Amino acid sequence: MVEIGHFINNARVAGTSGRSQPVYDPATGVSEKTVALASAAEVEAAIAAAAAAWPAWSKTPALRRARILDRFKTLLWERADQLAEAISAEHGKTHDDALGEVTRGLEVVEFAVGAPHLLKGEITENVGTGVDSHSLRQPLGVVAGITPFNFPCMVPMWMFPVALACGNCFILKPSERDPSASLLIAEWLAEAGLPEGVFGVVQGDKEAVDVLLTHPDVKAVSFVGSTPIARYIYQTGTANGKRVQALGGAKNHMVILPDADLDMAANALMGAAYGSAGERCMAISVAVPVTDAVADALIERLKPKIEALKVGPASDRASEMGPVVTEAAQKKILGLIGTGEAEGATIVVDGRTFRAPQGYENGYFVGPTLIDHVTPEMTVWREEIFGPVLSVVRRKDYAAAVDLIQSHDYANGVAVFTRDGDAARSFAHEIEVGMVGVNVPIPVPMAFHSFGGWKASLFGDHHMHGPEGIRFYTRLKTITTRWPKSGVRLESTFAMPTMG
Ligand code: NAD
Repeated sequence: MVEIGHFINNARVAGTSGRSQPVYDPATGVSEKTVALASAAEVEAAIAAAAAAWPAWSKTPALRRARILDRFKTLLWERADQLAEAISAEHGKTHDDALGEVTRGLEVVEFAVGAPHLLKGEITENVGTGVDSHSLRQPLGVVAGITPFNFPCMVPMWMFPVALACGNCFILKPSERDPSASLLIAEWLAEAGLPEGVFGVVQGDKEAVDVLLTHPDVKAVSFVGSTPIARYIYQTGTANGKRVQALGGAKNHMVILPDADLDMAANALMGAAYGSAGERCMAISVAVPVTDAVADALIERLKPKIEALKVGPASDRASEMGPVVTEAAQKKILGLIGTGEAEGATIVVDGRTFRAPQGYENGYFVGPTLIDHVTPEMTVWREEIFGPVLSVVRRKDYAAAVDLIQSHDYANGVAVFTRDGDAARSFAHEIEVGMVGVNVPIPVPMAFHSFGGWKASLFGDHHMHGPEGIRFYTRLKTITTRWPKSGVRLESTFAMPTMG
């Protein structure tokens, strides 16, 4: 049995809490590893290591910090396959999909290497006679990241490259379902030259998270995961005086207007709904065809493609979709398909009938599922399913499609497929969703823009990476300077000082 532990002061450290839980291969349902669950004392040790490293790291010139990240980036390019394999073995996603995740994370490292430019301040000469003013951004101190199972590499990389480039020390609390990627990342950061204590990993559950949320030496918390936990993280972290960005769940719609290229829309939907077995926060889980004629034509195109989708383990490089992450997730998803049927929806392609390939019968597979005639009253529309299930909610016109989306609690991503520039522009302008795609099904912003949803999909004021990431991980200081000419006297003034 392999025991997955923590990473503190540039070394792997075994867990000492006596608590651990199994880590499964979702393709087989077999567990040959356990992950340590940190005690409060172990998390405190990681925080102490980070706090000790911070004074020197924060004073290290930004260019030198960036050069370490640049070396880390080179290691990542060279070892992307190894990292992708570690991800697939615990998450279940296909190798190509895992490689895509590594690349999207790597792009944030590339962005962070340019941070010295973004950390430049502003200066105004002569704000008053002989007085200059300049503003600069300084790091916060020790910051923490708490991340979900679905992107064990990319989501931590939305956070730590920017945090480190800005001069913070970072503690990662990865998902306990797929913890191995975090340790490879930590080792490669150390190999790239990151000083001891600057980046640490604590494995664990709520017990570890609660220490990060309340410890006075943790200045900011970045979280990505489900909405109930995101809300808890935001409320507890801010109540303890921390800066918090907490990204939650999603229900992403794709509107297909009558003038859309339906072949293009159907192809886009296949990847967006079933890629990564639907376990992406930006997966499209609701198709909204405008008019019944568009719905019928779309389903006619989708059905044979869904039935032909190759579902299997990541070890078979021909697999297009893998299992879901746990047995509990599998049961939940299969149950929700049943709920949809019981509530009156039509199951067009039924993932419950899927049979796994020989040797993988105990894997957590769910076949790709298409549900038609879903209405806003149904559970499958209201709840995040987080599996390979696409619901079709038919709308009679554009306004009804927009109303449907505006009425959902989640507002992470959304897409519209159309050839009409005016309709696309109006949609992008009025829709109350954080990330919008026009003929782009999964509009995940590039690293130099920022990622984040609205409403119940994000608690806090800052999106992740890009310019918003730099703002989140730094605080502004403004310095006003006077160097009087010799002989010039400064008179006392009791009125509010004014310049000019
Ligand atoms: P999760 O909320 O169960 O877990 C996320 C993290 O929180 C993990 O590190 C976990 O250990 C920790 N955690 C779980 N329960 C906790 C508790 N009671 N107290 C403190 N910490 C706790 O999420 P998940 O199942 O790992 O990930 C899937 C969810 O993440 C989906 O809802 C998905 O939409 C969301 N997600 C959102 C985004 C986004 O950008 N908005 C991106 C990826 C995933």
